[in-house]
Amino acid sequence: MILKPKGTNDILPSEVYKWHHIEKLFRKICEEFGFEEMRTPAFEYTSLFKRGVGETTDIVQKEMFNVIPSVETRKVTEGVWDAAGFKRYLDKDGMTLKPEGTAPVVRAFVENKMHGQGQLHKFYYITPCFRHERPQAGRMRAFHQFGIEIFGTMSATADAEVIALADTFIKRVGLMDVKLHINSIGCPTCRPQYNETLKAYLAPKLPKLCDTCNDRFDKNPMRILDCKNPDCQAELHDAPHMIDSLCDECAAHFEDVKSMLTAMTIDFTVDTGIVRGLDYYTKTAFEFISEDIGAQSTVSGGGRYDGLVAEVGGPEIPGVGFGMGMERLLLTMQNTGIEIPKPMVNELFIIVLGEQAKRSALAVAKRFRDAGIKTEIDHLGRSMKAQFKYANKIEVPYVIILGDDEVTKGVMPLKCMADGTQIEIGIDDVEKGVALIQSKQEA
Ligand code: ATP
Ligand code: MG
Repeated sequence: MILKPKGTNDILPSEVYKWHHIEKLFRKICEEFGFEEMRTPAFEYTSLFKRGVGETTDIVQKEMFNVIPSVETRKVTEGVWDAAGFKRYLDKDGMTLKPEGTAPVVRAFVENKMHGQGQLHKFYYITPCFRHERPQAGRMRAFHQFGIEIFGTMSATADAEVIALADTFIKRVGLMDVKLHINSIGCPTCRPQYNETLKAYLAPKLPKLCDTCNDRFDKNPMRILDCKNPDCQAELHDAPHMIDSLCDECAAHFEDVKSMLTAMTIDFTVDTGIVRGLDYYTKTAFEFISEDIGAQSTVSGGGRYDGLVAEVGGPEIPGVGFGMGMERLLLTMQNTGIEIPKPMVNELFIIVLGEQAKRSALAVAKRFRDAGIKTEIDHLGRSMKAQFKYANKIEVPYVIILGDDEVTKGVMPLKCMADGTQIEIGIDDVEKGVALIQSKQEA
């Protein structure tokens, strides 16, 4: 027996309706805000993520699922087997299963020259993601993200609308205790000077910080603030804050975002600890954090990334967006006691009795389905009693009883399970039955 790989999950029919509910709601809200869906491949060249996510991120440094390429590609690629048994190709010929949704959307936006077709672009995605992390509650190796991106504007209204969309979604799923934390992490004008201030603060602490922090000291010191290691965090509590060193443009942008959120009555906390795991963020950075302590607490993260499109090879086009984890969202909802209503699977069950009736039942089922009624028939040749019992179990509101006698007469009873009333309908003309079931649907 071969079991599922560690850190993956099967989504069984008993759970999948929750996914449908969330996906449908997310699509609906995206459409309310004027976003269009984009779908990208499950894997990309490794170099896309190295550039688009960033060399100093946990994702690129520790979590990439690098794929063993085909024989032809292997000839030109030198890979290294790592401890987990993955051959890691870190050069441009290697491929990586997508660890996040943004870099591929940016790649597709640039590659398809969509920037030439208008000034403002608004996309959403729902996608599987893969990260080679240590599995825990709310942290998987194969998981799903959904999110949005706006390309083409520096306006703080775009930051505000991105946050508003996430906030609308979170409130509509019923999560009232998920709090918005926002920060500004500056831009290439003000961050270099802040980095020097930060490095001066960090330098004497380096011996006490972990290897990853030490590695990030020269390349991207601000990322040290995002270290998950509690020993490192203990050293960093009085670190200087980026928001105290913002240039005039970034400071004004941050003030605008905050006042726009206030205008939309979206509550937030300024949290100088939000530096986000991805290298390409500029200005606004935010997270939606659950106060339920049952699992990983960040449900969603996002922000502005004005350098990303150019980094991936496109023109200088600013962007802003967020990503949300499906599994983590569902877990937070579950821990908060939010129930998603289970939809009715079937509206009609056809009880089939006898050899002739089988053929008629298939034809009758087709007539009801063509009229939009969800219909199931018996396949097991069970007794009438057993078929009724099954109809009760699946909570179907109507049954038809179709035996060889009914076939001879050309009419059959349609019975309401709730009150036991029944009407006679034609085998060849089910219109009366369809009308009855539809009238109940509408009521
Ligand atoms: P974390 O701090 O939890 O490691 P991150 O900074 O790596 O998060 P992002 O890259 O911003 O997360 O991803 C956006 C969202 O995707 C997260 O807020 C979370 O909901 C979800 N997510 C990220 N990694 C995982 C994972 N391994 N399993 C499940 N969901 C995840
Ligand atoms: Mg992470």
